Amino acid sequence: MTVQTITTQCCIAGGGPAGMMLGLLLARAGVDVTVLEKHADFLRDFRGDTIHPSTLELMHELGWMDELLALPHTKVSMLRFQSGSHDVIVGDFTHLPTHARYIAIMPQWDLLDFLARKASAYPGFHLRRRTEVTDLLRDRGQVVGVQARTPDGSLEVRASLVVAADGRSSTVRQHSGLEVDELGAPMDVLWFRVTRKPGDPTDPMGRFERGQIFILINRGDHWQCGRVIAKGAFELLRQRGLDAFREDFARLAPFMADRAQEISSWDDVKLLTVRVDRLRTWSQPGLLCIGDAAHAMSPVGGVGINLAVQDAVAAANLLAAPLRQGRVTPQDLHRVQQRRELPTRLTQRAQVFIQDRVLGPALRTPSDRTGLPLPLWLVQHVPALRRIPARLVGMGFRPEHVRTPATPATPPSH
Ligand SMILES: Cc1cc2nc3c(=O)[nH]c(=O)nc-3n(C[C@H](O)[C@H](O)[C@H](O)COP(=O)(O)OP(=O)(O)OC[C@H]3O[C@@H](n4cnc5c(N)ncnc54)[C@H](O)[C@@H]3O)c2cc1C
Repeated sequence: MTVQTITTQCCIAGGGPAGMMLGLLLARAGVDVTVLEKHADFLRDFRGDTIHPSTLELMHELGWMDELLALPHTKVSMLRFQSGSHDVIVGDFTHLPTHARYIAIMPQWDLLDFLARKASAYPGFHLRRRTEVTDLLRDRGQVVGVQARTPDGSLEVRASLVVAADGRSSTVRQHSGLEVDELGAPMDVLWFRVTRKPGDPTDPMGRFERGQIFILINRGDHWQCGRVIAKGAFELLRQRGLDAFREDFARLAPFMADRAQEISSWDDVKLLTVRVDRLRTWSQPGLLCIGDAAHAMSPVGGVGINLAVQDAVAAANLLAAPLRQGRVTPQDLHRVQQRRELPTRLTQRAQVFIQDRVLGPALRTPSDRTGLPLPLWLVQHVPALRRIPARLVGMGFRPEHVRTPATPATPPSH
């Protein structure tokens, strides 16, 4: 097996939302950037397919929002929650100060393909698929590149800066030795899909009944269904059997009871092990972690992609100039953490509060109570309050804006 060595200004491990957005913005700002993605394509199921209003606003700032929204998607303007006979709107995005006042639900691979297509117009952008980062290269205490595995042999990428954007099981973060604080999560999520029929509701829904919590997301021709379970309870559910699982589903979503048989085996049900954690320090000389690699997010609120994208924008804003000058200092890297740590902490604190105070107890002690919990009662009776969750989910605590300059792109060849 051959060892190939290449040199770039910025090497990004991972072509998810964080890595692709950062790669695109740096290349657009005239930086030579190489993104290494271990998979051959962006096709993976149940990865999280929400594009939030603040991410759409970034696309607007870049002049690409209409082109992105020409791709097939569904729109979510309201977040609903049903419990017993109550049907409560918990979030209303229609008042947000953004150009798109909704969440666009679009397969994540379409978003990533779109970013890759836009990025490829800049001569400094290089995406290497089927390239798995396996280790860090160091020289006198400083990270100077990565070691990677490709189908053609080993690859060494030497770079002024390595960015770990390789997700919540980050290999780079493991090799960095950076310390991680685990925040814990009392739950896991099971994802599966059933057909959507004409006449079905359009809005996504949360359903909460006798200790069972379901999430239903309209994906056009099908429903993406999530069942929230107590941590580690999947094995118990499997022992109860698939019929019992289907019965629970039919009871929670009666309008889809006729489709419960579509869950034909446990292979149709994917387990997401929920993890919430955060690095104490996001960088060391020559290395920066962003997105899930810096902070794995709970699925509560579905904000992980949004935060990953916001980290990427902040990192590009702060690092494009030092990268172009070939001089990225530890202080430059620390500034990214200073910018993004507070919104991350506040978001995780809100998620952990909901996990520990609402979801966890509900899963542990099923009750037949028909009244609404106080926060839901409040949003039901004071509609203006629905703007608060909408703002936090749709825009986050600190929305970022593109501040990097644009170098000329090469027009696409036809
Ligand atoms: C089942 C599920 C459902 C979710 N639903 C939502 C949702 O609805 N909304 C939402 O906002 N968030 C959701 N999330 C969370 C969201 O997917 C993440 O927060 C977000 O994708 C983080 O982006 P990222 O770019 O940091 O990491 P990732 O999206 O995890 O991307 C990391 C990339 O790095 C690649 N990679 C990994 N290791 C290596 C390596 N060693 N070398 C090279 N490449 C590597 C991976 O293949 C991947 O492409 C969900 C997560 C899961 C697992």
